[in-house]
Amino acid sequence: MNQNEMLALYENSGALLTGHFVLSSGRHSARYLQSALVLEQPQNSTQLAQQLVNLVQGEAIDLVVAPALGGLIIGYEVARLLNKPFIFTERKEGEMQLRRGFTIASGARVLVVEDVITTGGSVRECMAVVKACGGVPFQVVAVVDRAPDAEGRFDVPHQTAITMQVETYTAEACPLCAAGTLPAVKPGSRGHA
Ligand SMILES: [Zn+2]
Repeated sequence: MNQNEMLALYENSGALLTGHFVLSSGRHSARYLQSALVLEQPQNSTQLAQQLVNLVQGEAIDLVVAPALGGLIIGYEVARLLNKPFIFTERKEGEMQLRRGFTIASGARVLVVEDVITTGGSVRECMAVVKACGGVPFQVVAVVDRAPDAEGRFDVPHQTAITMQVETYTAEACPLCAAGTLPAVKPGSRGHA
């Protein structure tokens, strides 16, 4: 699968949204990817997870870890294809933690998986938890990178199946706001997320 075929999966799933969106950062954008709609179909999850597995060929992996909620489905599917165990970190009262009795063996080589990376905040917090628990995160893979030019977000190599430079604007500089024909919506509203 090449990048266009993967984007077609998003488009055919109604997950490549076009409109006028307010992102969680507060910036405005004309496009939004809703991975949950793609991963709704298990065969799509398998296909996308296989792309991520291809990015870690030859690596010794003890454990796959993902930050909840975004990374859960794709992380589990990657682990299933690799035949490795899968656990996840989650936020409680805003703080990323390892819960539910999950443990990480000291020195375990950990692959970190996420669905969509923008700033990388969830992934960094997940990696910090892994390290605090004795694991060694060695690589990050994600389906989509919304800011492929933002280097230095992680202190380990990271690869994504789809890179997508989405233009974002401050509300003041947003051409869609200036046009005034389409109100800005949060992707979380009206069933988008
Ligand atoms: Zn706008």
